[in-house]
Amino acid sequence: MSDLTEAERERILAKAALFSPPVYVLPDGRRDLVGLSKEELAAEMALIGEKPFRAKQLWHWIYHQGARDFGLMSSIAKPLQEKLAERFVIGRPEVVTDQLSTDETRKFLFKFRDEQAVETVYIPDRQEDRGAVCLSSQVGCTLSCRFCHTGTQRLSRNLGAAEIVGQFMAARDAYGEWPSPKGETPRLLSTIVLMGMGEPLYNYENVAKAMKIVMDGEGIALSRRRITLSTSGVVPMMDRAGAELGVNLAISLHAVTDELRDELVPLNRKYPIRELIEACRRYPSASNARRITFEYIMLRGINDSEAEARELVRLIAGLPAKVNLIPFNPWPGSSYQPSTPEALKKFAAIVMQAGYASPIRTPRGRDILAACGQLKSAMEKGAAA
Ligand code: SAH
Ligand code: SF4
Repeated sequence: MSDLTEAERERILAKAALFSPPVYVLPDGRRDLVGLSKEELAAEMALIGEKPFRAKQLWHWIYHQGARDFGLMSSIAKPLQEKLAERFVIGRPEVVTDQLSTDETRKFLFKFRDEQAVETVYIPDRQEDRGAVCLSSQVGCTLSCRFCHTGTQRLSRNLGAAEIVGQFMAARDAYGEWPSPKGETPRLLSTIVLMGMGEPLYNYENVAKAMKIVMDGEGIALSRRRITLSTSGVVPMMDRAGAELGVNLAISLHAVTDELRDELVPLNRKYPIRELIEACRRYPSASNARRITFEYIMLRGINDSEAEARELVRLIAGLPAKVNLIPFNPWPGSSYQPSTPEALKKFAAIVMQAGYASPIRTPRGRDILAACGQLKSAMEKGAAA
């Protein structure tokens, strides 16, 4: 059960509404169909006097085929194609920069119609012929974690569902991964991680709507097992995400005492570690052996002692979990250093001995500043100069 009081839920939602994305209507009055739920798409068709099966056809063209041009929709007769094109568009965010790292990590800076921009990163899996797309959920972040560059940027706004799905669709465009008329193409972009800029559970409505679109079996059709939502610990919204989406959960833990976590992840003052771990135990995947990922950023001399590794193991005891040890990626002006390789190894060994997988996340895309929030800042500096 959610321990979110009605008043608290109202407050979170009201706060989110302040930062709501603009509704996109092009200057010529056409509206974007991307990001509408199936029901909303059916309502749009009804409004222009079309039958419900048209919505079904359009959904398939937009989310299964990746079509962007009504004129190429061969199952729709020309007069209707024209009618649709007069009223609607199938939008994408604009690519501002597209950088490929020497390790094949690829980072996009996408801009929306109000000039706000976010980062989206494709991270290939070294072992397999596939990879993950790391999506942003907000422009900036209000939570100000001490080690995180996004936290230093003033939150501009939440992303809308269209902008969240749009990042994935634009990444698919870049890899040409929509099926050809001859059949399915192999899919590199097979996983989504909500680990980019922003706190997804502070923009829950839009994130949930976007994930329901990507999970829909008649469109992009990614299973909830292929989606991981990372949160810094918005405890009340974790229950809701578990009940309504059931995607994999990653928790940005980063410290094992409230004293230190209050400092590193200030949201901890509101939802302390004990409450956070209890919410993890309630999370649906925890009861059916799908593992929860605990992210732990390794900061030299701050949170990387052997005693802290043992305390971490004690905290998560009994949970199906894995621990992701993340080497800190310094940014200009950051006050921390990455842990030494020895400290990392010792920490990982203790976690592993306790029976948890504890991969050390290899830094990816260092040459293209693929850490949270860095590319966007570089762009803003360039613009200011
Ligand atoms: N707001 C959510 C999701 C986005 S942040 C959350 O906090 O979980 C996703 C991850 O980026 C966090 O777990 C954090 O550990 C990581 N991160 C942020 N700044 C980093 C840095 N400088 N170096 C390495 N990882 C960083
Ligand atoms: Fe926000 Fe996550 Fe960065 Fe914290 S780590 S400031 S919650 S994006």
